[in-house]
Amino acid sequence: MAKYSFSCASIGQNCGFEIVNASSEDELLQQITVHAKSSHGINNPPKDLVDKIKANIKKSGKYSFSCASIGQNCGFEIKNAGNEDELMQQIALHAKLSHGINNPPKDLVDKIKANIKAE
Ligand SMILES: [Zn+2]
Ligand SMILES: [Zn+2]
Repeated sequence: MAKYSFSCASIGQNCGFEIVNASSEDELLQQITVHAKSSHGINNPPKDLVDKIKANIKKSGKYSFSCASIGQNCGFEIKNAGNEDELMQQIALHAKLSHGINNPPKDLVDKIKANIKAE
């Protein structure tokens, strides 16, 4: 399973609060909500703050992808990349070098993301 981490410092707060390795994004967001209320006096965080928090959540785990999972007749697989960004870069490289796709369209990217396995 992927683990989710967040630190208040990452959104520019002068606050040492950190959550490390929550087991789901939902759990992490609930914990951040409690902290926002108790330590920052924010009862209903505005959407732009929630978006900022979400953008700064760090996911860690093992990410894997196989071309076969999106219906390609191709044995390419990546196993246990350290994060989703790294995996997406490697898939982009493979798409370019093996499939001649330089700028994958959004629907293909979405399909790839939906087929990434996280542990
Ligand atoms: Zn804080
Ligand atoms: Zn492939």
